[in-house]
Amino acid sequence: MSAAEAATSTLFDVDAIRRAFPILDQQVRGRRLAYLDNAATTQKPQVVLDALVRYYQHDNANVHRGLHTLAERATEQYESARDRLAEFVNARDRSEVIWTRGTTEAINLVAQCFAQSELKAGDAVLISELEHHSNIVPWQLACERSGATLRWIPLRDDGTLDLSDLDALLQGVRLVSVAACSNALGTMHPVREIADAAHAVGAAVLVDAAQATVHQRMDVQAWDADFVAMSGHKAYGPTGIGALIARRSWLERLQPWHGGGEMIETVTLEGSTWNEVPYKFEAGTPNIAGAIGMAAALDWFDGLDHAALLKHEQALLAATVAGLGSIHGLRFIGTAPVKAPIVSFVIDGVHPQDLATLIDQSGVAVRTGHHCAMPTMTRFGIPGTVRASMACYNSFQDIQQLIDATETAAEILS
Ligand code: PLP
Repeated sequence: MSAAEAATSTLFDVDAIRRAFPILDQQVRGRRLAYLDNAATTQKPQVVLDALVRYYQHDNANVHRGLHTLAERATEQYESARDRLAEFVNARDRSEVIWTRGTTEAINLVAQCFAQSELKAGDAVLISELEHHSNIVPWQLACERSGATLRWIPLRDDGTLDLSDLDALLQGVRLVSVAACSNALGTMHPVREIADAAHAVGAAVLVDAAQATVHQRMDVQAWDADFVAMSGHKAYGPTGIGALIARRSWLERLQPWHGGGEMIETVTLEGSTWNEVPYKFEAGTPNIAGAIGMAAALDWFDGLDHAALLKHEQALLAATVAGLGSIHGLRFIGTAPVKAPIVSFVIDGVHPQDLATLIDQSGVAVRTGHHCAMPTMTRFGIPGTVRASMACYNSFQDIQQLIDATETAAEILS
């Protein structure tokens, strides 16, 4: 163990954290599991699993509609989860939290509402060359529908955004949508700087926070974002739940995108009126258990020492880069100075798919392919990368297992 590893491990008890995640304690292909695919989805601590089971065993009922005890209990827990999330992200008010299925649905909500009433021919939407497909395709659809134009901030060779022409790019822009952290390369973007420039020309700002929630607490007010999209499953919560956090003035102004129960105030055969925000954007029976599970995940995550967590994850990142960097022919894609613990790499002459298949033989779970960021791969002239992404429960043993597995695979394939 290096001095840096020793320093972080005394602050941060990874073994204790790992014990909270029963899934990690297993063998895969005869080797201990090293789960390094956290940017795709994180594992869930036992307290989240318990919260889901407890809800279904004791309190399951539909929310808001019933007067019976179970309906009241379900509603209370579901709405408390909204309070919990509002507090966690430092929302201005609980009514700014709309439950969605995840980041993808949250971005589609904004894109479709903007296409309906905010965008017109001659307007522009600005994204970046380093976005997940979830933050590209909804804007392509919105621009097609409204006649607006899609523009993007270019990407530098190190995986940072080239903001040198931002003022020119912002001309005529109605909305800017960028990720806080890239899932493909790990680059952390200067969200506040982009938001300030966008607001200076009257554009709205959406932050895709899918990868931002897992590493640290989130502060939507510090970003000064109008919209923030996030997924529960990327931050130790269940799949199928996430949220859009949106400035209330925007929620009042935009028209609903889905119609159905819950989102209405009155319905006649001739027409309907809308419920107050946030319910105006929550048609149908929501993912009640998911919201409760997500709140349990936030509670658990909040119990960690966040300064120590940051140090631990950055030490894992440094150890990964140092270890993999010594492998002959290995090239990192994305070397930004400010990075989340996500490492993307290729080995010259080796297909990433073959590499990841062999790495899996050593019990190491990494992801391979374009990571839903095809324009980024095109920018670097590669079909895909192998990506290792860390979370709080990863240990230096996981990293060593990755380095050894990659070395062995590279020897076999080169
Ligand atoms: N944006 C980013 C940066 C992501 O990493 C992901 C998922 O990997 C998404 C959006 C989409 O998230 P979800 O599939 O949970 O909706």
